[in-house]
Amino acid sequence: MNTRNIISAVRAVHAALLANEQQIESLDRAIGDGDHFINVRRGCEAITAMEAELAPLVPAQAFQRIGMKLLNTIGGASGPLIGSFFIAMGRTLEGIAAPDGRQFARALVAGVDAIRSRGKADLGEKTMLDVLIPASRLLERLVEEDAALATLCARLKEEAERNMLATRDMVATKGRAHFLGERAVGHIDPGAKTSQVALFAVCDLLTQGAAS
Ligand code: ADP
Ligand code: MG
Repeated sequence: MNTRNIISAVRAVHAALLANEQQIESLDRAIGDGDHFINVRRGCEAITAMEAELAPLVPAQAFQRIGMKLLNTIGGASGPLIGSFFIAMGRTLEGIAAPDGRQFARALVAGVDAIRSRGKADLGEKTMLDVLIPASRLLERLVEEDAALATLCARLKEEAERNMLATRDMVATKGRAHFLGERAVGHIDPGAKTSQVALFAVCDLLTQGAAS
């Protein structure tokens, strides 16, 4: 993996989020305050504007720079959470010029752990973590098993979709949705949706790249 891959991934995630604007927007309107889509779009735009600055950096530095930018750019609860995700990924990759699959998986797990400790949340609380924790663990396992890229992406997408949908039946115990109690049941968590969309975009980019 190199920084060019990171930039392509951000572009792909940005496009995928725009394509899902209506759903993400309405989910946060239903159980949050309606700003989640705007927050993540602002984050993508800020990173896109940094492409020239990121290009010469190694992945570890690029991730840290991205994390710092997102901390300062995205508002709400998700800004510090997503910011610390990238900063932890960068920290884990320090000293590695071109991370391989195992190193990337380890960084992803560390990034998700950072969200967990920053947000003091865990599985089953109806947040982005319900998609991110199982996905990062599955990635680590599949990489360890030397799974083929196409299999790995298909399994990750399946897992993310299932876990995103499962947040619909959960009562939230973190974030704004927890003020709604039982009334949040029946709505997918916006952060879980965004995480699934982002993961799909990166997987599709990887498998397209492999096919061409
Ligand atoms: P805000 O809730 O401040 O309006 P956003 O709308 O951008 O911020 O983000 C809301 C999303 O953030 C939720 O859908 C949820 O997935 C995630 N979230 C909120 N609180 C936490 C937390 N403590 N830990 C992990 N994720 C959280
Ligand atoms: Mg919100």
